[in-house]
Amino acid sequence: MEDKEMTRGEELRKALLYERKNGYDNLPVAEREPMETYCEGYRQFLDAGKTERECVERTIRLAEAAGFRPFRRGMEVKPGDRFYQNNRGKSVMLAVIGSKSLEAGANIGAAHIDSPRIDLKQNPLYETDELAYFKTHYYGGIRKYQWVSIPLEIHGVVALKTGQIVRVSVGDGEGDPVFTITDLLPHLAAEQSKKPLGEAFPGEGLNILVGSRPLEDDEGSDRVKIAVLDLLNRKYGIAERDFISAELSAVPAFRAQDVGFDRSMIGAYGQDDRVCGYAALAALLQLENPERTAVCMLADKEEVGSTGVTGMEASAFDTFMEDLCAAQGVPLRACYEQSFCLSADVTAAYDPNYADAYEKRNSALLNYGVGLCKYTGARGKSGASDASAEVVAAVRRVLDDYGVIWQMAELGKVDGGGGGTVAVFMAKRNIDTLDAGVPVLSMHAPFETVSKLDCYMTFKAMKAVYETM
Ligand code: MN
Ligand code: MN
Repeated sequence: MEDKEMTRGEELRKALLYERKNGYDNLPVAEREPMETYCEGYRQFLDAGKTERECVERTIRLAEAAGFRPFRRGMEVKPGDRFYQNNRGKSVMLAVIGSKSLEAGANIGAAHIDSPRIDLKQNPLYETDELAYFKTHYYGGIRKYQWVSIPLEIHGVVALKTGQIVRVSVGDGEGDPVFTITDLLPHLAAEQSKKPLGEAFPGEGLNILVGSRPLEDDEGSDRVKIAVLDLLNRKYGIAERDFISAELSAVPAFRAQDVGFDRSMIGAYGQDDRVCGYAALAALLQLENPERTAVCMLADKEEVGSTGVTGMEASAFDTFMEDLCAAQGVPLRACYEQSFCLSADVTAAYDPNYADAYEKRNSALLNYGVGLCKYTGARGKSGASDASAEVVAAVRRVLDDYGVIWQMAELGKVDGGGGGTVAVFMAKRNIDTLDAGVPVLSMHAPFETVSKLDCYMTFKAMKAVYETM
């Protein structure tokens, strides 16, 4: 074959232009099978964890199988040690201790395992017109119209006064019933259809239908409600007052499934941010002897602002890190100032159906790899931690050296809205932090869609960060 000489224009274009390419054009054939295997594990993780509590349980099971053990203050901390710490069953931190001292800093992957959903109120059960319902208070940013007329499962716990914890999970077992929030028929929706989308479905209208059969041979009031309570009492040993100390959530009754004739995508509930949580976890579980200590933080409460004792703002993370540092005689602040955190959270994938909401040149595209976000925030970047150019450059180098397919991403148009992640709370700790994650279609919807290639590349990015940042 004869090499055709490039024209000056061709040379310049090749040397100087930043060309974005579909990830499939750069994906080595040898990576296809590992990608599918990885995605199979991810789908199982999604099906096993529909709430943060269930994700913590699943995480600990996987971690123990990979040689991790619970960390307790005062334990020895040696290179190669594998620890985890469970924060109240709703958040979990894991570490693989590096050959270098913690004075050299840690490589941290931080994601969240809570997702938007519909929580039951503390006095939820009522009967009206001979139907039984649960009153709800939604959690996180949902578009309410998406949650009516779909099958729902109920997951959570009831904490009894005795200290006993009763686990509830209805809808995902073989032969289980499901629940639903009814919608108005189009024939009678003339008035409702005139309302703005945000007003057509008020929060107090999201009442879950849970029963309709009245108690037999009874002349008292609320015969449907008492019949439901009777069932709950027989199955769980609870009475109405026990809802007061319960955390019960309605989540979509969908399993994680391949999407598309080519099965190139995954559709499921709760992929924001379990898709990055699983990437950060799976990469850590495979890690053997890193130079710097690698830490995976799976946080709760991100969808409501990272508040609360299990959110990223809480000091549980500092306590875990300080206890590890103390075992090596290192001040926590000395570790933090040398550390790096990849705040692994999803970003918006450019959606041609809603092209107006995006600025395509700077939006993440499906199948173009893990999306790096220099800044998040709203309006004039309000609320962003805004990683420095130096930090972005270091991550570029690490990902390129590792063969990770990645892209830059900004969440939608300027002034179109905005969002935040746990990045700000890591930056506040004096830890250099960059946002990165999987681009998602229909983010926060009951059924979110991602690309398998992007999932796998986020996992590879986490590995690259743990091993070589
Ligand atoms: Mn998120
Ligand atoms: Mn979110």
